[in-house]
Amino acid sequence: MSRWTLPPERIPSAWFNVAPHLTTPVQPPLHPATREPVGPDDLAPLFPGPLIEQEMATAPWIDVPGEVLDILRLWRPTPLARAIRLEKALGTPARIYFKDESVSPAGSHKPNTAVPQAFYNAGDGVRRLTTETGAGQWGTALAFACAQFDLECAVYMVRASFEQKPYRRVMMETWGGSVVPSPIDEPDHPGSLGTAISDAVRDCAGRADSHYALGSVLNHVLLHQTVIGLEAREQLTLAGERLPDIVIASCGGGSNLGGIAFPFVPDAGVRLLAVEPASCPTLTQGRFDYDFGDVAGFTPLMAMYTLGHDFVPPSIHAGGLRYHGDSPLISALVRDGRMEAAAYPQGKVFEAAVAFARAEGKVSAPEAAHAVRAVIDEALAAKETGEERVILFNYSGHGFLDLSAYDDHLHGRLIDESA
Ligand SMILES: *Cc1c(COP(=O)(O)O)cnc(C)c1O
Repeated sequence: MSRWTLPPERIPSAWFNVAPHLTTPVQPPLHPATREPVGPDDLAPLFPGPLIEQEMATAPWIDVPGEVLDILRLWRPTPLARAIRLEKALGTPARIYFKDESVSPAGSHKPNTAVPQAFYNAGDGVRRLTTETGAGQWGTALAFACAQFDLECAVYMVRASFEQKPYRRVMMETWGGSVVPSPIDEPDHPGSLGTAISDAVRDCAGRADSHYALGSVLNHVLLHQTVIGLEAREQLTLAGERLPDIVIASCGGGSNLGGIAFPFVPDAGVRLLAVEPASCPTLTQGRFDYDFGDVAGFTPLMAMYTLGHDFVPPSIHAGGLRYHGDSPLISALVRDGRMEAAAYPQGKVFEAAVAFARAEGKVSAPEAAHAVRAVIDEALAAKETGEERVILFNYSGHGFLDLSAYDDHLHGRLIDESA
């Protein structure tokens, strides 16, 4: 057997909170003007109460509301698959497993948090959500979730992606969302997640009927994603494995990585690996410091690895990984040595994506392909030493709307600024 599914009732009924498992507690976010720690009242204009509580939660488990489970069951639990054909192609003794988050309506892991965020906002009487999107994955996820709760959805999309990926805009509009390129006031600027966050926060701050939703980075977002790792743990047992030797995921803001890796943090022997683009090397080359989450400096300051909030990464195809900062929870784990990080240039990433597609049939999102690259290198290292390593990775999304990137790679047009 090479694929393990769980019945609908085995969907995790509580999220795993990693905060109580950190060796040093995360430093609190600071108010952008006063530089004092932010309290729940400072966040109230942006987020509903339950999400603010989750942002600061210290309880080890947090219940998933029934209405959220009902929607997640449209595609969850997601399959765990073993990449046997890739193992054979590499000639590795490693056993490679991947959690297939590409089966969601939006084609990525992002609806796992979009749905609870829309649910709590609707419960708070909010009529409209504003957000940013990089490659369009988060925007599509939120547009889908808003459609479930009759909320309006206004998406500020990084201009480079808006121009490269028109089909994501069409998906968002199909689910009822409205999409504008960011930065709104500079038509020649390629934009970044940082500019789009500024636009979305500015919009929401000016309207009483609106709240803001963020697709990654924040503690509550990573919390919602832990359904991935919790299911994977159970499915690995079904596959006859005890624990993985290493858990690998791509890292932009850290949500798909936190989602699959956090439930393994208490298992000291399990290595955790973040994979980022060489052109936006936040964890491998950034500094650990307080910095703004956006370019304009509207958001609270977070203690994280950062390349500087005014850093504009080059327009690589993995738009979802173009963020100057990183989740404070992921940053704390890297700083404390519990998690490792690696960076790859996109040419090497697409070589791995093509090898994975030819062996397993799956055409990865460019973001997910970063994980595939590291998985292949890990499997080749196991071949070198003859070790039977168990590798678990997050297949965070498919690349069906990223085919122009594959076209560029296959026809020698892929520019690698960092290679
Ligand atoms: C958004 C996205 C990522 C990167 O974001 P994280 O918050 O770091 O997970 C990775 N893979 C896919 C498919 C995405 O859509």
